[in-house]
Order: sequence, then C-alpha cells, then structure tokens
Amino acid sequence: MSDRILLVEDEEKLARMVEMELKYEGYEVEKAFDGRRGLELALSGGFSLVLLDIMLPQLSGMEVLRRLRRESQIPVIMLTARDSVVDKVAGLDSGADDYITKPFAIEELLARIRATLRNKSGQGGQDVPLSVGPLVMDVERHQVTVRGINVELTKKEFDLLRHLLENKGRVLSREALLDAVWGFDFVGETNSVDVYIRFLRSKLDDAFGLKLIHTVRGVGYVIKED
Ligand code: CA
Repeated sequence: MSDRILLVEDEEKLARMVEMELKYEGYEVEKAFDGRRGLELALSGGFSLVLLDIMLPQLSGMEVLRRLRRESQIPVIMLTARDSVVDKVAGLDSGADDYITKPFAIEELLARIRATLRNKSGQGGQDVPLSVGPLVMDVERHQVTVRGINVELTKKEFDLLRHLLENKGRVLSREALLDAVWGFDFVGETNSVDVYIRFLRSKLDDAFGLKLIHTVRGVGYVIKED
C-alpha cells in the first residue's frame, strides 16, 4: 500500500507541483491550503507523513505542529522560508522531524521524505541509527562512531555525512549535496563539497582503513560498503 502524504501549503502553484511529483513517485497526496484545514486533516489520521509550510493563513504551521503533537507522533517535515534559522530551530524543538528550505529541489524533498518514513518505520521510531558498515551515526546525540570508537566531526562534516547516510547507496551530485548541506543561499563553489568529502575520508576511511565514501566520476559521491 502506498504512503499517504498530507501537504499543507497555501502557495497553490507550489502545492500542485509538489503534489504532481509525489504522485509520480507513487505516493497518495491530499492538500490543504490553510492551517486549520491542515490540522483537521492531519488529526483525522490515515497519513504517513505531513509536509507543513510555516507561513499559512488561519493557523501558522508552528501552531498546527504544536496542536498536532498533543495527539499525534505522525512524521512532519516543515517547509521553511529561506534563511529563517529561528523557524528551523523552533520547528525542530516543537517536534518536527525535519525541515527543508524553500525553494527546494524536488529530489531533495523526496530524499527527506524517504529518510523520514524510513526512520519512523523502524522499531523504536526516531532512535534508529544511521549506519554503513562499522560506522554508526547517532543523530540525537550528534555522535559518530566507527567500530565503537568516537570520531570528532565538525558541524558541516556531520551534516554532510548524515545526508550521505540518509541516502546510502544512492549517488548524489555535488549540487544536490551543496543544496542539502549548505543551502540554496550559499554562494560559492561546488568544490566546497570536494573539500569536505576529503575531510570525511581522512577522518573515516583513511583513519580506519575503510572504503565507504566513493567518488562516481563526473556524477558525484555515494556512501556504501564495498
Ligand atoms: Ca506559505
């Protein structure tokens, strides 16, 4: 049975575009164009995940999330406006599972939906660790271990590794990684990705004699066990 996704978004053009892409991916989609209707539908049940815009008429996304969380642990991905770091933090504090900054690439949204659904379907919900081979990431504790040994990573290294792990086995382009980890407002070169991949390799692959981070020439990077 396909997953049903509730999309709460008042920009109708964007909502229609996302709906079309989600349906193409095999999801069932229901739309709400304001917060009140969104909350009502979310509480009515039957959805696997909610995509929730923050700036909404009638009830803000944050208020919808707060009220929803009193009754339901359904996965929620917030759609935030560019640069609103406060929204992101507030959203995650209020119990959102993830957020994505607008404008977003649809591939990025799909990857986050898959990752969120995957995390939730595991036993124990949110605490399912991300892993590849002997490497384990505990997102809640912001901790990475290889064979049980703690590895110190900077914030960016951690975020990059997390994104690779959430898409384990999938080749990600430099652009996709840049968008996901640095955000759309980042002005710079895609070789920032290469630089941080080098840092990760040195701390993970080289330090432990592993081969987890692979370059796919002309395409990008993938994390997987050899
Ligand atoms: Ca809006």
